[in-house]
Amino acid sequence: MSTEAIDILNDYKLRRTNGRISIINIFMDSKIALSENIIEEKLTGLCDRATIYRTLKTFIEKGILHRVIDENSIVKYAMCNTDHCSSTHHSHDHVHFKCQVCGNTECMDDLQITPMQLPNGYTAKETNYLILGTCKNCN
Ligand SMILES: [Zn+2]
Ligand SMILES: [Zn+2]
Ligand SMILES: [Zn+2]
Repeated sequence: MSTEAIDILNDYKLRRTNGRISIINIFMDSKIALSENIIEEKLTGLCDRATIYRTLKTFIEKGILHRVIDENSIVKYAMCNTDHCSSTHHSHDHVHFKCQVCGNTECMDDLQITPMQLPNGYTAKETNYLILGTCKNCN
């Protein structure tokens, strides 16, 4: 059992269940964004689908995970940067890069994006920056 996963749950005042710990561990081990199907596959026999669904929802509400929308509208999930996200505010002004060769999607936290000014009367709730291309490993 990883202490880091437990620390995260403690920080966010979430009860430590095996399902939650396993899901956080999967994300910490993975450098790429993961779809619900992949998470389900990794947790076969440990967690049922409903638990995974509920846990992902909780983690998004708490600011532990954020959604990444792929070009095929497939929803994936990635860890939030805890310096930027909380239960009251998600801040994802970072780019997601999707490799069209291996299909992996990753967060690029270090790329600077200039915030866009929306016209009057519009409020942004969620922003998705997606770059398609070929990743380092596939190039
Ligand atoms: Zn977030
Ligand atoms: Zn690739
Ligand atoms: Zn991201």
